Amino acid sequence: MPELIPGAPWGAAMQHVGIGVYSWSPISGELSWDDRLAAVFAADRPGEAPFDTWLRRVHPDDRAAVLATIAQFPEGERPERVFRIVLGDGRVRHMLVFPIDVQRDEDGKPVRTRGVMIDVTSARETEGRIAGMLDAISDGFFLLDHDYRFAFVNRQAELVFGATREELIGRSVWEAFPETLGSRFEDVYRRVMDDKVTDRFEEFYPEPLNGWFEVRAEPAAEGIVVFFQDVTERRTRQEERDRLLDAERHSRHETERARDQLAYEATHDPLTGLVNRWQFHRLAEAAIAELGTPVVVMFLDLDRFKLINDSLGHAVGDELLVVVGERLSRHLRAGDVLARQGGDEFVVLLRNASRAEALAVAERMRAVVAEPVEVEGHTLMTTVSIGLAAAGPGATVETMLRDADVALYRAKDTGRDSVAWFDAQSHQRLLDRIALESDLRDALVGGELEVHYQPSFAIDDGRLCGVEALARWSHPERGLVPPDVFIPLAEEAGLIRTLGRQVLEASCRQAADWQGVPDLIVWVNVSGRELTPGYADSVLDLLAQEKLSPHQIGIEVTESVLADEAVAVHQLRLLHTAGVAVAIDDFGTGYSSLARLAVLPISLLKIDRSFVSNVATPFGRAAVDLVVHLAGALGVPVIAEGVETPDQLEALREAGVGLVCGYLLGRPAAAQSLGPQILPT
Ligand code: C2E
Ligand code: CA
Ligand code: CA
Repeated sequence: MPELIPGAPWGAAMQHVGIGVYSWSPISGELSWDDRLAAVFAADRPGEAPFDTWLRRVHPDDRAAVLATIAQFPEGERPERVFRIVLGDGRVRHMLVFPIDVQRDEDGKPVRTRGVMIDVTSARETEGRIAGMLDAISDGFFLLDHDYRFAFVNRQAELVFGATREELIGRSVWEAFPETLGSRFEDVYRRVMDDKVTDRFEEFYPEPLNGWFEVRAEPAAEGIVVFFQDVTERRTRQEERDRLLDAERHSRHETERARDQLAYEATHDPLTGLVNRWQFHRLAEAAIAELGTPVVVMFLDLDRFKLINDSLGHAVGDELLVVVGERLSRHLRAGDVLARQGGDEFVVLLRNASRAEALAVAERMRAVVAEPVEVEGHTLMTTVSIGLAAAGPGATVETMLRDADVALYRAKDTGRDSVAWFDAQSHQRLLDRIALESDLRDALVGGELEVHYQPSFAIDDGRLCGVEALARWSHPERGLVPPDVFIPLAEEAGLIRTLGRQVLEASCRQAADWQGVPDLIVWVNVSGRELTPGYADSVLDLLAQEKLSPHQIGIEVTESVLADEAVAVHQLRLLHTAGVAVAIDDFGTGYSSLARLAVLPISLLKIDRSFVSNVATPFGRAAVDLVVHLAGALGVPVIAEGVETPDQLEALREAGVGLVCGYLLGRPAAAQSLGPQILPT
C-alpha cells in the first residue's frame, strides 16, 4: 500500500478495511479517487467521472454535509464525518470521510483538498450492535459528554425518562432534568466527571420520575456513563419488610413491657407504688442470707387509722396511706426497702444498720408521719408506732417480722406514737398474755369464774348497806389471777361482755338469796365497753327474771365512762330512771366537771383508795373534803373504799364521809363465808 498519507496512524489496519484516498478541487468541483475507493463505491459505469459516481451513490440526505466537509478545510481543524452510500443492490455502507491536507493559492483560498474515505460499515454495525445491546439491557443507560449533554440514551432510559433519544441527545442533562440540580445526582455526575472515579448510590428521584433509583456512574473518554435502575419496587418491598420488622420489634417490645408490668404488679402495692409484702419477703430473705446480723426489720402501724377510714371514707384513708408512704420513703437510706405490708401497716428493711442507726431512722420516720396531712380539705393528724427487730442467730424473715410485730405491740402499748425494740422478755410477756387470754376464754366457757363480795357499812352505826361484787379467777396452774390483769385482758379480747354478764347473773342470784337483809345493795362493776345499746334492758330483764327490785342492784362505773360515751350515759340513765343505783367508782382520778356531774345519772360517789390511804396527810384530807362537798352539792352520798386503818376511818368520819369499806372492815369473800358484819367500835 502506497504511503499516501505519511504518518497516518493506522498502518496495517488499513489493509483490512475499505479505505481509499480522494482528492477534491473546490474550484472545478472535480473529484478523483484511487482504485480502492472506486471499488468501494462500485464504480460500475466505465468512463463515468468519480464525482458523478459518488453523487449517485451517496445518500441524498448526506450529500451536502459530505461536500461541505471536503470543501471547507478550516485551519487547524480536521473535520470528519460519516455518511451513507447506497449500492446498486440496495445495501447501505457507512463511510468516514477524513480530510488530510489542503493546498491553497497565494490568497490562501483552498484549491485542492485531499483525504481518505474509510468504509466503516462493519464498525458502524458493531456500534449498532453495541447500541442494540445497550438497548436490550434492562438497566437504563445514558452517556453524557463533557458538557453534560446527552450523547446516548438507551431504550430503557427512554422509557423511564418518557422521552425519545432524538429529543434528548444534544440536550444538557441539567436542562432536560432540572430536578437533578442541587440533588445528589448532580453531585455524583460532577464528581465522576471531574475526578474520574466510579460512584454508585441509591436515591429517590422526585417528579417526574418519582421513584427510587440505583445509579452507577463511571468515567468514560467521552464524558460519563450512567447506568441506572428503577428500584422503587424493591425499596417498597424493603420498606414493607422494615415496617413488618418494626411492627414485630414493637410487638416484642410490647410483650416485654407487659411482662415487666406483670412483674411490677406482682411485686408492688398498687395503691402506694411501694414494694409489696411478697417482694419484701424475698428481698429481706436475701439480705439476711447475705448480711446476717446487721439486718434490721421495722414494723410500722398507723395509730387510729381505722378511725380516719371509718369517719372520712376510704378515699381519704387511701390518700393518707399514699402520703405516709411517700414521707417514709424519704427517710430510707440507699439499699433500704420500704414495703406496704397491707392495710395501714408498713415494713422497712434496713440492710446494714447498727441499733443506734436503726433507732434514728425509726425516730425520723415517726416524726415525719406526725406532721399534719392535708387530704381533700381535711387536716389529718396521724401518728405511727414502730417496732424494731435486729437479726439474731438463725433469724429468718418470719421470725424477724414476728419480733418486729411484737415490738410494735409494745410500742402501741406504751401509748402509741412511739418506737420500741423487740426484746425477748416482752415477747415472753406477750406470749403469756396470749396464752392467758385463751385460758380466760376457756374459763368463761366453763363457768369457772367466781364472784367474791366485799361489804360496805354506814360509818355512824356500822350498819351493812352494800356488798361489791368482785370477779375472781383461779387459774388451774397460776392460781389466783388478779382482776387488774384479767379484766383489761377481757376488755381487749372482746370477752368483757360475757364476763360482765356472768358476774351480773351471779350477783343477781346472790341478791335474791340476800332478800332478807334490809336495804342491801349488791354493787356490780361494769366496764364502759359493756354499756352498748340494749344493755339497760338486758339488766332489767334479768332483775325481773330473778324477781328482784331494781333498788337491790347498783352499777359501778368509772368517771372516764361518763366523760365521753354518749351511748354509755344513755344506758346508765335508763337504769337510773328504772331505780338501779349508779356509783362513780375511783372518783377523783378522772376529770369530771361539776357542771357535767350535775346532769349525769349518779347515785353515789366512791372516793378512790389513793385518797383514803392519804387521808391522814393535809393534802389527802383536803381532797376528801372536796369530794364530800361536791357530793353534798350534787345531793348524793359518799363512800370511801380501801379503809385499812382505824386512823383512816376516824379521819373519814371527821370529813363527813357516810359510807366505808376496806380490809379493816371486811375483805372480799365468797358469799357463804360472808356472815353479818358489824362495824368495829
Ligand atoms: P375496784 O372496782 O376499785 O374494786 C376495789 C378493789 O379494791 C378490789 O380489788 C378490792 O379487793 C380492793 N380492796 C378493797 N378493800 C381494800 C383495802 O382495804 N386495801 C386494798 N389494798 N385493796 C382493797 P380487786 O378485787 O383486785 O379488783 C380490782 C379491780 O378489778 C376493781 O377495782 C375493778 O375495777 C375490777 N373488777 C373486779 N371485778 C370486776 C368485775 O366483775 N367487772 C369489772 N368490770 N371490773 C371488775
Ligand atoms: Ca368497784
Ligand atoms: Ca374503786
